[in-house]
Amino acid sequence: MIEFKKPNRFVEKVFIHCSDSDITSHDDWKVIDGWHKERGWEGIGYHYFITKKGELQIGRPLEKIPSAQYGYNTGSIAICVSGSKDFTEKSFVTLRQLCDEIDVEYDKLTFHGHCEVDKNKTCPVFDYKSVLGLNDKGYLKPSNSKELKPTPQENRVVEKHSVEVNKWYNNKLKIKMTNKLLQDNEGNLSSKRVAGYIVLATYLTLSVSGFYFMADIPVNKLSLLNGMGIMMLGLLGVGVIEKFAKKK
Ligand SMILES: [Zn+2]
Repeated sequence: MIEFKKPNRFVEKVFIHCSDSDITSHDDWKVIDGWHKERGWEGIGYHYFITKKGELQIGRPLEKIPSAQYGYNTGSIAICVSGSKDFTEKSFVTLRQLCDEIDVEYDKLTFHGHCEVDKNKTCPVFDYKSVLGLNDKGYLKPSNSKELKPTPQENRVVEKHSVEVNKWYNNKLKIKMTNKLLQDNEGNLSSKRVAGYIVLATYLTLSVSGFYFMADIPVNKLSLLNGMGIMMLGLLGVGVIEKFAKKK
């Protein structure tokens, strides 16, 4: 079993790709990793690579947004199947297993080929819709345990509704919380950064209020100079936080 673990970031779509090569030496995620590094990316743009023998290889960490479908990377998981013309049934078995495991973890998740979001591409070339058994909207046909669980009709409607409301609320919250300042290069919220700024803001508030109000110091040249000193420390703090937040 694959043991797919749901990432913390929001995911709503899975994209299927192919490696566009039937050369034996290209049948490995490390080769793709090399190609993508040459493009100046962080490394392999896909989360999974499936070899012709059906081996599942792990690429980019799931917590990271893929670099795989230009303009459609956010909210997606990217899977690459080895091959250009010659695909193997072994790869397809692994692909189906992986997609089933991913699907079980989500209430509403659709599966797509790269070609659906890039009209100039035929990727992943093979008939992924019938390999995976997708319906016309990209949902996996009921084959997993989630769908087989008998649920009374009324409950099903309520469940569906609360899932929708929760998703809507989470998205709202995400938009509110996600401030450009707190995101890293790939648009992800950095917890280090958030923690850093909270500490810094507390420090600045305490020192400024303590300095001017509690200590009852008159506002003159010297005290203003001290105030500037606190501001400089604040700026230094921002520098330190940024340095740490960028380090992975
Ligand atoms: Zn592709």
